[in-house]
Formats: sequence, C-alpha cells, structure tokens
Amino acid sequence: MLISIGRTMNVMGLGLEEAGVALGQRGEVIVDEYLKTSVPGVYAIGDITGKVQLAHVASAQV
Ligand SMILES: Cc1cc2nc3c(=O)[nH]c(=O)nc-3n(C[C@H](O)[C@H](O)[C@H](O)COP(=O)(O)OP(=O)(O)OC[C@H]3O[C@@H](n4cnc5c(N)ncnc54)[C@H](O)[C@@H]3O)c2cc1C
Repeated sequence: MLISIGRTMNVMGLGLEEAGVALGQRGEVIVDEYLKTSVPGVYAIGDITGKVQLAHVASAQV
C-alpha cells in the first residue's frame, strides 16, 4: 500500500524566479484565470499551479 500525501511543487533550481515568474508561498506558479504567469507568453498548468492536484484538473487546463 502506498500513501502519498503532502506533495509539493518541484520548482527549485529551474530559474523561474530569475526569469520573473512569480511563485506563491508554497512554491506554486501563480497564474490568472487564463493560466498566464507573471511573464507575458509563459503559461502554466497542472499541479505546479497549486490548485487541485488531480490528473483530470490538469487535463482540463490544457
Ligand atoms: C501516488 C499518486 C496517486 C495519484 N492518484 C491520482 C488519481 O487517482 N486521480 C487523479 O486524478 N490524480 C491522481 N494523482 C495526481 C496526478 O498524478 C497529478 O495531478 C497529475 O499527474 C498532474 O499532472 P502534471 O502534468 O501537472 O504533473 P506531472 O504528471 O507530475 O508531470 C510533470 C512532469 O514534469 C517532469 N519534470 C519535472 N521536473 C522537470 C525538469 N526540471 N525538466 C523536465 N521535466 C521535468 C516530470 O518528470 C513529469 O513527467 C496522483 C498522484 C500521486 C503522486
């Protein structure tokens, strides 16, 4: 049996903040309702956006 809880965003070392991508307190990439990040032309979807961390949520964001 596997119990997986407390997952976090894997954003360390990617240079996101250096590129100007705003991160939240939990390391999530902050996006607006159109999934735009703080950098024009850069979008984020899925778990990294720190919303509901389920596969069908990520799929719906595509
Ligand atoms: C044990 C477990 C059970 C789950 N069960 C369910 C379930 O039953 N139903 C459900 O809806 N959801 C479930 N989930 C959640 C689901 O897996 C995630 O919500 C979904 O996979 C998120 O998709 P994603 O594309 O955002 O991220 P991911 O699927 O995590 O994809 C991210 C990808 O980026 C790659 N990557 C990471 N860092 C780098 C890098 N530096 N350079 C290049 N590539 C990189 C990773 O290798 C990975 O392939 C489960 C998760 C876990 C851990």
